[in-house]
Amino acid sequence: MLREFFLGFIKVHVLHHASKGPLYGVWFLEELAKHGYQLSPGTLYPLLHGLEADGYLKRDERVVEGKVRKYYGITPLGERALREARAKITELVDEIAEDD
Ligand SMILES: [Zn+2]
Repeated sequence: MLREFFLGFIKVHVLHHASKGPLYGVWFLEELAKHGYQLSPGTLYPLLHGLEADGYLKRDERVVEGKVRKYYGITPLGERALREARAKITELVDEIAEDD
């Protein structure tokens, strides 16, 4: 159950960073670690593929130091989902914070 919550947070987090510029898996795993999430590539990659398949992210392959690296950028649909999620999260945080 807790894992399901966190996966939702992580999806919004991906959209947030992708809205600033394309990101790739290893970079995002390090970003998550800074936020205290220990996620395996085996969890992150299917999540990125799912967001791509649903049209929230678009993939762009680039060759970096001789290796193909997959970058994920946000789509207009992803931008819209992020805006809606941001509004709902802000409202929820405001409500939850009142109980502190
Ligand atoms: Zn972050």
